[in-house]
Amino acid sequence: MEKSIKVINLDIQGMTCAGCVSSLEKALSKVDGVHLAEVNFALNRASVRYNPEFANYSQLESAVKAAGFSARLKCENNEFAEPYEKSEDEYQKLYGQVKFALGFTVPLVLLAMAPMLGLSLPVIISPETKPLNYGMIQLLLTLPVLWAGRNFYAKGFFLFFNLSPNMDTLIATGTSAAVGFSIWNLSGTSQNIGGLYFETACVIISLILLGKSLEFKSRIRASEAIYSLLKLRPKEAVLVNNGKESSILIDLVESGDILRILPGSTIPVDGVIVKGSSYLDESMLTGEPVAVKKTVGTEVIGGTLNTNGVLDVKVKRVGAETTLSGIIQMVENSQLSKSRVSRMADKVAAVFVPIVLFISLVSGFLWWLSGAEVNEIVSYTIAVMVIACPCALGLATPIAILVGTGIGARNGVLFRSALALESTHDLSTIFIDKTGTLTEGCPKVTKLITNEDFTKEDLLFYASYAERGSEHPLGKAVVDEAKKYSFNSTEVSGFEAKPGFGVKALVNGYTVIIGNQSFMEAEKILFGNLPEIAKEIPKGSTSVFVGIEGELAGVICLGDQTRLESKQSVFKIREMGIEVVMLTGDQETPAKAVAKKTGITNLHFGISPEEKSKIIKKYQQKGYRVGMVGDGINDAPALAQAEIGISMGTGTDVALKSSDLVLMKNDLRQVVFALLLSRATLKNIQQNLFWAFSYNVISIPIAAGLLVPFGGPALHPMLAAAAMALSSVSVVLNSLRLRNFSFSQVSQ
Ligand code: ADP
Ligand code: MG
Repeated sequence: MEKSIKVINLDIQGMTCAGCVSSLEKALSKVDGVHLAEVNFALNRASVRYNPEFANYSQLESAVKAAGFSARLKCENNEFAEPYEKSEDEYQKLYGQVKFALGFTVPLVLLAMAPMLGLSLPVIISPETKPLNYGMIQLLLTLPVLWAGRNFYAKGFFLFFNLSPNMDTLIATGTSAAVGFSIWNLSGTSQNIGGLYFETACVIISLILLGKSLEFKSRIRASEAIYSLLKLRPKEAVLVNNGKESSILIDLVESGDILRILPGSTIPVDGVIVKGSSYLDESMLTGEPVAVKKTVGTEVIGGTLNTNGVLDVKVKRVGAETTLSGIIQMVENSQLSKSRVSRMADKVAAVFVPIVLFISLVSGFLWWLSGAEVNEIVSYTIAVMVIACPCALGLATPIAILVGTGIGARNGVLFRSALALESTHDLSTIFIDKTGTLTEGCPKVTKLITNEDFTKEDLLFYASYAERGSEHPLGKAVVDEAKKYSFNSTEVSGFEAKPGFGVKALVNGYTVIIGNQSFMEAEKILFGNLPEIAKEIPKGSTSVFVGIEGELAGVICLGDQTRLESKQSVFKIREMGIEVVMLTGDQETPAKAVAKKTGITNLHFGISPEEKSKIIKKYQQKGYRVGMVGDGINDAPALAQAEIGISMGTGTDVALKSSDLVLMKNDLRQVVFALLLSRATLKNIQQNLFWAFSYNVISIPIAAGLLVPFGGPALHPMLAAAAMALSSVSVVLNSLRLRNFSFSQVSQ
């Protein structure tokens, strides 16, 4: 990202429908210096990329205001879960309005229906003898309801005159027409009480408010995943200083502090255990249901739960640097971003309202031409306006993405963006790195082979010191093996790691080269009696060469267990119609051995990280859509080349920042889960769009009275309002169904 670009997130208030999304986006984009403005209706949030040399926050804020909404800088993480609690308050307010509106609407409807229901009213308001009073009391009951719906009018007419009509405009014009027409009928000399539509206006307002509040409630539930992540941050921690414990606010904790974690409490920030051991429940972050044993020297992640022992933890990362913050940030960003489908839906929703206003006027005009009564004409035009709000259309995609990414986060599956979630569903090929992905990634040294000039101890001594700086599992295995011997310490300098090949360092004054054959060749190591050495390598084991001072000193053989769940996961991925290909820098025999154990038939071995990405590119050129699963360190080029780069088993910063999909657990079943979740979410979006769309498309002609000349039904505006309110609620409820999707479904 260029330095001069800034991204801020704004909490937006006052968005009532999907139509608002595009008008707000337009308004923000018009501000000088704004590159991209994305508005998310489901989250009530806008994300703006802009150049701070040209634009500033207050300009953005006033642009939002001018468009008829209000903006607030999104709270930073450390302000805790406040925005989510605020949503709850907002819901309560909305719900209060609904109750208020219904309190007047119900008696009004009874009154209006009285003649039909055969209820006898007191003489003073009898429709037969005192029509004016009968009408007036209805008007009186209507006024408070109009008050409850005042936002529709303020916003609707404002946007109407701004030439960006939205759903509020439709409701405002529809209900004003109903009220205006009724008043006109009442004020005429005839006092035509057959032409009173007060109850229609009130029912529309009440139902739409009710629908909004139900929808709001469901949206709160849909964003629970993030809320529950936010709640994982404790507010205080126990600091240990000179053996004394004291309680301090989490914001004051600094890197290097020692914190005491009691059983049953949450680890406050990332750190490393310096005293004690315990089982930690990491399920909230990784989805791993079994508590994991942690002892001195192991890292702990903030947000996880200490189940039994007392731990002293040295703080490594605080605040925005912690893994939990990274995860929250990633989930929030992905929920805020837009997929291809949502962009399209927004475009449709944007043109929908003006078209509907037009259709409604045209249908009124046609009915007038055909000589229909004024009552009917009014009824048809109102019905069209009310039913055609594209609310459901605008919610269909973001709400499903909200729930889908949330479910993912709960199970340790983090999608970088809505687009990543969308693109995962139709991958045709998954490339899998061998080491640490198909295998445990904790290889053990099984055999040391040397030439006559070196002893096994010497070989291990030089190799382990050279590998000391290595992050590679093979390097770590060599270092671990050396711990069994008490080697004297020695001087190491000039450490250099060549990803996919090996390492190089100066140990005790000798140049040590460790790695695969091509690395030896590149470093001009003399192979001497290699053929004999090679014969001693156990079949199927990984072997690395050790060159000392230009000569091949020996070979270290390592064995790595294949993961139990690898075979089953490979099988499941293939069952979904996706091809699985193994990529590895390791040699042919160990590669084939793992392939055989996991049921993979297509493999590439002995290849460098660059070649991995070239192979992926070749597949892409043939039209395959490729996902690559790797460990994120030496597979970076391949991860970047693939459509979906999937990094596994690391909540590290690199992984969180560079992959499209981060799996918190080192478990291939999470790949299966991610694929299934993506497919389920996409299917959910399609269902939502189908319902939202067909509902709008089918109901408009009915509302316009198109079926009436053929003896079909007409749609009363009140029913239109009910249907409209139901449509968005049904879309939201359909997406909430996704919450039943769980990791246990794929892990059997
Ligand atoms: P994979 O594709 O299986 O993850 P890598 O690309 O990480 O393998 O490494 C490829 C090969 O390079 C290894 O099999 C090993 O021979 C060699 N290699 C890489 N790093 C090291 C290291 N630190 N020590 C020894 N050998 C290494
Ligand atoms: Mg690797």
